[in-house]
Amino acid sequence: MTAYEMLASGLQQLGLSVNPQAVEKLLQFSDLLLEKNKVMNLTAVTDPKEVVTRHFLDCAALASHIGSGKTVLDVGTGAGFPGIPLAILCPGTQFTLLDAQRKRIDFLKEVVEELSLSNVMPVHARAEEFAALHRASFDLAVSRAVADLRVLVELTLPMVKKGGMFYAMKAADCMDEVGSASQAFAILGAPAAELLRYIVPHDGVERVLVRLQKTGDTPDKYPRRFKKIQTDPL
Ligand code: SAM
Repeated sequence: MTAYEMLASGLQQLGLSVNPQAVEKLLQFSDLLLEKNKVMNLTAVTDPKEVVTRHFLDCAALASHIGSGKTVLDVGTGAGFPGIPLAILCPGTQFTLLDAQRKRIDFLKEVVEELSLSNVMPVHARAEEFAALHRASFDLAVSRAVADLRVLVELTLPMVKKGGMFYAMKAADCMDEVGSASQAFAILGAPAAELLRYIVPHDGVERVLVRLQKTGDTPDKYPRRFKKIQTDPL
């Protein structure tokens, strides 16, 4: 099976409609990613078919939760995950892709230009700094492989509007992590976590979307500034 066929059938398995132009754009992004990965550290994945499963189809599982006409913030987007695949699959929604590493944001600016992604804005900033200027500004926040949930919700929820959602993409065995963060969820205005399980097509790996609805305000003192954030494994 070619990467194109894997991607198209995987999107179908996730219940998404398959737009051939979107599939082509995703594969173009894969080429740009693997090419740039030769000269800078963007991803541990080097096989184009693994880019399809571990990056694109994993991130695409979130697409059906995004909807159209929304504003979405991807915190710690790195090489553009989940933000770029979601922006390609949800062209009617505006994506802000945030990362503390300038080189990764420079790469994403090149991607935006090459793929003519008019609904993507890459931003170089730490979430703690960006939050000071963009409180309660986004309908949705998303994040994958950035930090433990207790830290992650402090970095993201201040920027989500009341009534909005935060989706954290996590490993299947994240229940203890979710349990340990329950107090942080309540303090930051999103007390109830839902766990949505999915299987990544053509990979068979089970993953979880931790969904938090923001029902209250986040107190002004959050986020605090973190010195060093322990990266969450994929
Ligand atoms: N989300 C991507 C993915 O799933 O492939 C990248 C994950 S990478 C392991 C974690 C990223 O989070 C890094 O690019 C890092 O620069 C970024 N990051 C960590 N702490 C951050 C912060 N406080 N503000 C913005 N970005 C941050």
